[in-house]
Amino acid sequence: MSIQKQVSLAPYTTFKIGGNAHFFCAVASKEELIEAVQFAKQKTLPILVIGGGSNILISDKGFDGLVIKMNIKGIIQKDNILSVGAGEVWDDLVAYVVSTGLYGFENLSSIPGTVGATPVQNIGAYGTEVCQLIKSVHAFDTTTMSYVDLSQDVCAFGYRDSLFKHQKGRYIIIGVNFIANKNGSINIEYKDLKEYFKKEIENKSVITISNVRNAVVSIRAEKLPDWRKWGTAGSFFKNPIISNGAYNELKKTYPDIPCFAEPNNNVKIPLGWILDKVCNIKGLKHGHVRVYEKQALVLISEPGATAQEVAELARMLMDFVKEKTGIDIEGEVEWVN
Ligand SMILES: Cc1cc2nc3c(=O)[nH]c(=O)nc-3n(C[C@H](O)[C@H](O)[C@H](O)COP(=O)(O)OP(=O)(O)OC[C@H]3O[C@@H](n4cnc5c(N)ncnc54)[C@H](O)[C@@H]3O)c2cc1C
Repeated sequence: MSIQKQVSLAPYTTFKIGGNAHFFCAVASKEELIEAVQFAKQKTLPILVIGGGSNILISDKGFDGLVIKMNIKGIIQKDNILSVGAGEVWDDLVAYVVSTGLYGFENLSSIPGTVGATPVQNIGAYGTEVCQLIKSVHAFDTTTMSYVDLSQDVCAFGYRDSLFKHQKGRYIIIGVNFIANKNGSINIEYKDLKEYFKKEIENKSVITISNVRNAVVSIRAEKLPDWRKWGTAGSFFKNPIISNGAYNELKKTYPDIPCFAEPNNNVKIPLGWILDKVCNIKGLKHGHVRVYEKQALVLISEPGATAQEVAELARMLMDFVKEKTGIDIEGEVEWVN
C-alpha cells in the first residue's frame, strides 16, 4: 500500500471542492487498514476515512492528517445475514439485493456513496432508514486497535445519527452485516410513492420490490441534481424536529406548515418547505454556489466554487430560518477542516 503526500481531495467528493490531504492512501484489505492506522499513530496524525465523499465538505485548506479511502469489498450471504464490505457502492448493492428478491432495501435506491458510510448517518429516504436493515457493524476500533462487532442497539441509531458521529474517528467501519429478508412487504406509505403507484393501488395490482426501486430511482432523478454532473452533497441540512407546542405556535403565523409525527410529542418539519415558502430562497446564489431550483435543501457548487462560499451560503440560510421561525437548523453534511 502506498501513502501519497499532498493529494487533492476535490475529486474524491461529490461537491468537487476542497484542498489537499497531507497524506492519502486507499485501503483494500484489513492488513492495509492496520498499516495505515499505525502510520497515522506513529506520526500522531488525525485520520479521516472517506467512502464516496457524498456527505462531506472539505475545507479549502484541506485536511492536515491521513485520509483513508475505504476500498474493502466483498458480499457474502450466510443464512439470513448478508455481510458486505465497507467499500462496496451502496446503490450497486441495492440493485443486487433487489434482483435477488431481498426485501427492505428498495426505498433506499439511488443514494450515492459506500456501504461503510451508511450506518454513520443512518441514511434514510422514502420512509426507510438503513438501521432497519442492519444486524451489526464490523469495525476496527482505533482506540484499542482491535476488531469489534457492534450490534444494532449499540450503534445508537437516530435520525441521520449514530454512535459513529458521536465517537468521531474511533471506529473505522470495515463491513456491515445486513438482515437478508426473503419475505417481507413493500413500504409505499411515503407521499411521493403513493402518488406514483396511485393506479396500481386503485386496481389492487401487485407491486414488487423491483417496481419500488424503479419508482424511487425515477422520482429521485426528477427531484435531485445528478451528482455526477453537478457539485452537491444532497440535502445540506437536516429537517428540524421541534415540540408539538412550538409547532402550534408556528402554525399561527404559517397555517399551511406541514409536519410529520415524531416520538415524545415532537414533530419533524420539512425544511425545504420553510426555505421555499417562508424564506423564499429557491435559486439564491452566492459566488459560485446556489440553492437548487427544484429543492431548496440542496446546494449546488459550480466550477470555481470554494468551501468558504458553501459555508457562507449555508450560514445565510441558517440565519433566514432562525429569523423567520426561531428554529436553529443543523447541517447534514459534515464539514471537514
Ligand atoms: C445527490 C445526493 C443525494 C443524497 N440523498 C440522500 C438521501 O436520500 N438520504 C441520505 O441519508 N443521504 C443522502 N445523501 C448523502 C450521502 O449520499 C450519504 O450520507 C452516504 O451514505 C455517504 O456515503 P459516502 O461513502 O459518500 O460517505 P463520505 O461522504 O465519504 O463520508 C461521510 C461520513 O462517513 C464517514 N465514513 C465514511 N466511510 C466510513 C467508514 N468506512 N468507516 C467510518 N466512517 C466512515 C466519513 O468519515 C464521514 O464522516 C445524498 C447525497 C447526494 C450527493
